[in-house]
Amino acid sequence: MKVLVTGGSRGIGAAIVVLYRQNGYIVEAPSRQEMDLSDSMSVQRFISARQGSGYDIIINNAGCNHINDIDCVTDDDLREMMHVNLLSPTCLLRGFVPYMKEHHFGRIVNIGSIWGAITKAGRSIYSATKHGIHGITMTLALELAPFGILVNTVAPGQTMTDLTRKNNSEDAIKRMEQDIPLGRLATPEEIAKVVFFLGNEGNTYITGQQILVDGGLTIQ
Ligand code: NAP
Repeated sequence: MKVLVTGGSRGIGAAIVVLYRQNGYIVEAPSRQEMDLSDSMSVQRFISARQGSGYDIIINNAGCNHINDIDCVTDDDLREMMHVNLLSPTCLLRGFVPYMKEHHFGRIVNIGSIWGAITKAGRSIYSATKHGIHGITMTLALELAPFGILVNTVAPGQTMTDLTRKNNSEDAIKRMEQDIPLGRLATPEEIAKVVFFLGNEGNTYITGQQILVDGGLTIQ
């Protein structure tokens, strides 16, 4: 089984890569130099170079989040979030789904966010991309069910990665912990376990779902 994981260099993606490899899967995790998700030509080149081959499992994990009120969102930040979080994952699926259809098997996991289920000030664009990616998940789950391809979203809550450290001070992280019923942030490994559960041949009946892995944050 061959797996494509985007954003595998660190954070949640790195934990996903380790878990699949530990379980004997062949994992391709292109670096930003090999495929820059903010650049549609780079994504197209990656897909074209793999014409005739493909992946049994695709994990659209890479993401970026620039927090700003709507009237301060720059064109560059808008474009980068749209491309990395929504447009490039969609193009990758468009490019590689024909291989899955041909083989009558596929598992796709898109990484969303709690901000794709609820939202918070300063996250309009990020939230739009994460709501959007789950829209893609639900539609593809319907389109691809006849081909044995199951599609789900894993929506992490606050997880201890570079992205969280970039956007939050240590004090802010302590306050976050107080808001989470389980009293702490998730580890990347805890998110990876859910991705793996949904994204391998052992999952035979869950499709079109968004699983929130948030320590109970959003049920309050
Ligand atoms: P992270 O630690 O910041 O890592 C981001 C990953 O995405 C890196 O591998 C990075 O590659 C890659 N990436 C970013 N822009 C790219 C681009 N233009 N081209 C190619 N690769 C690119 O992020 P994370 O916290 O693990 O987040 C992973 C996913 O979970 C994202 O979709 C994020 O939105 C989602 N999420 C995270 C949290 C959280 O609390 N951390 C919560 C909810 C959802 P480089 O190493 O080259 O930069």
